[in-house]
Amino acid sequence: MSRYWSDIVHRLTPYVPGEQPALAHPVKLNTNENPYPPSPRVLEAIRQALGDTAESLRRYPDPTARKLRETVAAYHGIQAEQVFAGNGSDEVLAFTFQALLKHDKPLLFPDITYSFYPTYARHFEVGYQTVALDDTFAINVDDYASPNGGVLFPNPNAPTGRPLPLADIERLVSRNTDSVVVIDEAYVDFGAESAIALIDRYPNLLVVQTVSKSRSLAGMRVGFAFGNRELIDALNRVKDSFNSYPLDRLAQAAVIAAYEDDAWFHDNCAKVIASRKRLAAGLTALGFEVVPSAANLLFARHEGYDAATLAGRLREKEIFVRHFNAPRIDQHLRISVGTDAECDMLVDTLRDIFSAYVG
Ligand SMILES: *Cc1c(COP(=O)(O)O)cnc(C)c1O
Repeated sequence: MSRYWSDIVHRLTPYVPGEQPALAHPVKLNTNENPYPPSPRVLEAIRQALGDTAESLRRYPDPTARKLRETVAAYHGIQAEQVFAGNGSDEVLAFTFQALLKHDKPLLFPDITYSFYPTYARHFEVGYQTVALDDTFAINVDDYASPNGGVLFPNPNAPTGRPLPLADIERLVSRNTDSVVVIDEAYVDFGAESAIALIDRYPNLLVVQTVSKSRSLAGMRVGFAFGNRELIDALNRVKDSFNSYPLDRLAQAAVIAAYEDDAWFHDNCAKVIASRKRLAAGLTALGFEVVPSAANLLFARHEGYDAATLAGRLREKEIFVRHFNAPRIDQHLRISVGTDAECDMLVDTLRDIFSAYVG
């Protein structure tokens, strides 16, 4: 607290990201990073963009990320004007709150979801109401029928990993025509269906994606929004009133190369999906209840052991998982899918903890 702070700063409740431990070899299953390096073409593209002297860095990057948007648009079979590129999908979401979700009526999102949403809502003074997931943590789109200034949820949802069929999303979007429906597809490549296929038909649909998870580029900070031109224009107006150059030269070059290596991408997603199955089986064998997941994470609880205690014991062994001290989910752990070796280490360590457990 400081007398120099603005009223806005006094009121903020900042989001707390998962810990980035300063250890040489942590088993880091707490922020849903991809366990594999990005496509080798990404490194080559960064080297080329830098050149021998880094001469290119003297100049500002393309403020519109035109070539990147064209590459990603062609990949999805849409127009570059239907693509917005930002500094991570967190920034894209922030712009979306300001540009499209701030209205007199409340924004609707699930009671259990990406915990950044209420943080943005408070920051941008967007009124919101939460809608309860059912007992299996499923979203029922018929629960989003009340008058609203927008609807927002991830598909698959976070932190549960639970996917929603595209037909349900289409039902919601086709009924909710007076406000924008935003689908945050941070995890979609690990087994759910993208709603990008619907943007030509529904001018009220915005789809947000990121290269952080399925393309192993969390460190590059690049995310996208896909939608009708009017929605994309709104995002550009906010961006150009805030920071005209959100994507640096190396990020633009790296992500173009990532989208050009489709074989790597499919192989990478397939490996993570196979490890997810293996980890789910391992956790189930230990007695965990595991929510069906189409993401690179598993959301699991064990009746016999307190989740926060387990997270603490794992941390002592330099294994990091995420625990949320929040209603309905404080007995769950969110575990990112690592390599098979990391997943096995987690399961073996949990087995040791259980056998030595004194509550
Ligand atoms: C990881 C994540 C994001 C943020 O991704 P960045 O592009 O790295 O900012 C957004 N939404 C959800 C649901 C996520 O899990």
